[in-house]
Amino acid sequence: MRQMLNKLLAQADSIAIGGHVRPDGDCVGSCMGLYQYIRETYVDKEVDVYLEDIPDVHKFIEASKDIRHEIEHGKIYDLFICLDCGDEDRLGFSLPLFQSAKRTFCVDHHVSNREFADDNYIFPDASSTSELIYDLIDKDRISMQVAEALYLGIVHDTGVFQYSCASPATFEAAADLLRKGIDGPKIIEDTFYEKTYAQNQVLGRALLESILLLDGRCIASYITKEQMEFYGVDAKDLDGIVSQLRVTKGIEAALFMYELEPNVYKVSLRSKDTVDVSRIAQYFGGGGHKKAAGFSMAGTPHDVMNNVIRQIALQL
Ligand code: 5GP
Ligand code: MN
Repeated sequence: MRQMLNKLLAQADSIAIGGHVRPDGDCVGSCMGLYQYIRETYVDKEVDVYLEDIPDVHKFIEASKDIRHEIEHGKIYDLFICLDCGDEDRLGFSLPLFQSAKRTFCVDHHVSNREFADDNYIFPDASSTSELIYDLIDKDRISMQVAEALYLGIVHDTGVFQYSCASPATFEAAADLLRKGIDGPKIIEDTFYEKTYAQNQVLGRALLESILLLDGRCIASYITKEQMEFYGVDAKDLDGIVSQLRVTKGIEAALFMYELEPNVYKVSLRSKDTVDVSRIAQYFGGGGHKKAAGFSMAGTPHDVMNNVIRQIALQL
């Protein structure tokens, strides 16, 4: 299994890497870690990485300046590697490159993943796609740059090694990456904990306006486009709000949503032990993990909230 990646890379002259829309830390970390690894290990190969604009805090990854935000019409790659995507539509603008590639490979840890590529390396129990990339690459060829990116991904998808998805293997991978000489605490502080003033304001607003439902076992809050404009924030600034809602004592599930376009909401769900939010997200056409999942839905905030709460109630 481990040789799978090296075998596919050896057979391809041109390689594209793509991750999901609205890239998060694990998406950026796994894509950039693998990109850097291929550049350093297979110097003669053509390798490109396709992602939407990434959050500013992740731009310390030097190779992120090479990220392509548009595709060239008619371009066909020998191999397309799809990372951290539960389904192919999550690729967004790079989907045509996936569809036209001679061969496709998917590495992912979403329980909702249906193995849609030619070859698939899917482990829903893994903390992150970055940990899976760590599994697949030659350990003695991990440079500082590769280590930095993979560590970033692991930190973000484990909530700084806190969530139950952080296994002994996750800590071992992280330890090995730290031994490459990266500044782990700085990555954690600068990319996970540090917030702008506006981000903290909007977090405060979401917490103030939150409501308890289902006898205090569920918490929900939302931010409209108008409010986002008022605070001068965009979607990338709302990361972490749903996690803060989730830590409320007594709750089993947390719902946070923001307006993508007039009366269309991006919904984020988080849970503790009882509720499987990936089932709810899949029911509404999205996906994710047991304790973290998401989807988009049209309607007024109250319609969306009512629909989702009804599904949560069925599991409580
Ligand atoms: P978040 O709530 O942080 O956006 O996402 C939580 C998890 O659910 C992530 O693993 C993310 O990939 C997945 N997810 C979020 N939104 C969607 C969606 O619209 N479709 C699918 N398939 N997965 C999603
Ligand atoms: Mn991930």
